[in-house]
Amino acid sequence: MKKAMKRASLVLLALVMVLTMFGCGSRDGEAKFEAGTYTGTGEGIHGDIVVSVTVDENEILSMEVTEQSETQGLGDTAIEKIVQDILDSQSLAVDAVSGATYSSNGTLAAVTDALTQAGADIDALMEKSDGGDSAEAIVKDADVIVVGTGGAGMTAALEAARAGSSVIIIDKMSFVGGNTLVAGSAMNAPEPEEQKKQEMDDVRMATIEKILALDPVDDYMARWQATVAADMEEYNANGETYLYDSTDWFKLQIYVGGDYVGNPVLIELLAENSLASVKWMEEAGTIWKDDIVSVYGSTWTRGHNPTLDWGTAGAGFVLPQQARLEELGGEVLLGYKAEHILMEDGRVTAVTGTTNDGAPFTLNAAKGIVLATGGFGANVEMREEYNTEWPSLLNQKTTNPASSTGDGIAMGKELGANLVGMEWIQLIPYSHKALTATIDGCVMLNKDGERFVPEDERRDVIAAAALETSDQKMYWLYDKKTIIDELHGTSIYGEDIATEFPDGETAFYADSIEEIAKQSGIPYETLKKTIDDYNAAVDSGVDAIGRENLKMKIDEAPFALITNEIMVHHTMGGLEINTDAQVLDADGNIIEGLYAAGEVTGGIHGSNRLGGNAITDIVTYGRIAGINVSK
Ligand code: ADP
Repeated sequence: MKKAMKRASLVLLALVMVLTMFGCGSRDGEAKFEAGTYTGTGEGIHGDIVVSVTVDENEILSMEVTEQSETQGLGDTAIEKIVQDILDSQSLAVDAVSGATYSSNGTLAAVTDALTQAGADIDALMEKSDGGDSAEAIVKDADVIVVGTGGAGMTAALEAARAGSSVIIIDKMSFVGGNTLVAGSAMNAPEPEEQKKQEMDDVRMATIEKILALDPVDDYMARWQATVAADMEEYNANGETYLYDSTDWFKLQIYVGGDYVGNPVLIELLAENSLASVKWMEEAGTIWKDDIVSVYGSTWTRGHNPTLDWGTAGAGFVLPQQARLEELGGEVLLGYKAEHILMEDGRVTAVTGTTNDGAPFTLNAAKGIVLATGGFGANVEMREEYNTEWPSLLNQKTTNPASSTGDGIAMGKELGANLVGMEWIQLIPYSHKALTATIDGCVMLNKDGERFVPEDERRDVIAAAALETSDQKMYWLYDKKTIIDELHGTSIYGEDIATEFPDGETAFYADSIEEIAKQSGIPYETLKKTIDDYNAAVDSGVDAIGRENLKMKIDEAPFALITNEIMVHHTMGGLEINTDAQVLDADGNIIEGLYAAGEVTGGIHGSNRLGGNAITDIVTYGRIAGINVSK
């Protein structure tokens, strides 16, 4: 019996008003179900989801969730929504809830199980309604149509509205936020005034020296190296010890960290605007924590972390823009799936698609269209088509919601858009139990309790190392300094770390390393030695496996440990854009009126996106797209 299961199960009784007056629902007098109450089980992220479904011959009458242990505030909300959607639509063709794919699919599986027992024709229930004759075509007009309500789309929509355009933003899901909503990450931007409060160490100095010593691959890199070298000369001459950063150092790290595959022109624009984007978010309503942190996979300490004031960390990257957009009269349409973009006389004119109710829609854009549909991490076929870097990604889970299916890439391709960097797919360790994106106070272990990769390495290096371990998993350990001092005892999903966070299976919390070992099954002796060695490395400043970020020991109770699996996280490739966020065709020509921003675009991050740069990208290029489409 799983510990989390013991939690009082959410009892959700949803009743539907059933109109059976004309025997509605039965086809040719044939019964759809065998009347009765049936219990079905599906697999959620933490364990079984059990649903009791009551039907008469024609209708699903009610459903009760009798057992579940999904993440509070996310998974349980998803269950509620899926149950209600099934009841409302009397169908199993309902969309997974953004960010809670496992809980959504588990609920759907449980209901499917129950209805199978009731003798239902599951295939018929899975069919999306085409709306029949009653679904009237929807036609709407606006200056700007934005497709996708993640951070990129919301930002673009808000900027367009601020520039005086009428704006419609759509999403195929019934929730806003996309992948951005589940982002636990921070937003990178050099902010030297703040970073000066922190100290630089020898290892970081060595990192700078190492990159300055590289042969420049082009004039951009040579120029960035020259300014950083000049900065460091002055820094050293003045005997400074603070944590150095600059936009040119940021550019160098993006370029080098992406193996020089990224477009230096787009990198330059990203870095130059990064701090302005942080300030822009703040002005829109995002509330930042005071500390600048080192995000996992970021390779430097320049991450700005939102507080939980908007609900979750990710919500702070989307909901503030939505609130401002709606104040300006922007229209947010959910359950609108874009399928094609129309073109007339060499210019895009409209987005067409189908609503969740089966109604065809045409949204005419007087000024232009912004594609902000995110990546293709959840599209297994596309992953297989383009992946050349990993052995196979066929069975790899993804951190992305089900909506990340590369639709915008397909729509752009239809118009002749050029695709760049499609082979670069990022894998990361992932758990539904997340504490923080910073690795400052985190050590990463294998199941034998040993460290096997520098925690501050690039994401591709960490993922590749983890795939080499015997169970392809990683175990991340934190102590009080992260749990209490930084997080104040609350996970990024708002769970109380002492009580709601541990599930006895993947997430553990205890007052001693010994107890953590006992709970997780990691051998205590090895674990203790690993921690002792790591703490000694923090003292000496030299880590045996080359970790450079040696800011914090792991030595204060309580402790928390999270099991991570390796999952598809980000797709670096996508539509090629120019510095105005205009989509380009294979000959480098602009596709008039078509803009793109965020993960749907390619070519910015190269082979490997640094941790904390996705939000910087979506806000920066979202703004650029929103401003330019309004011109
Ligand atoms: P980004 O981080 O680039 O902003 P996200 O993944 O956060 O990207 O958001 C992309 C959004 O686009 C998601 O909310 C997703 O549901 C939406 N989306 C994807 N494809 C379509 C489509 N065909 N029509 C409408 N919305 C879409």
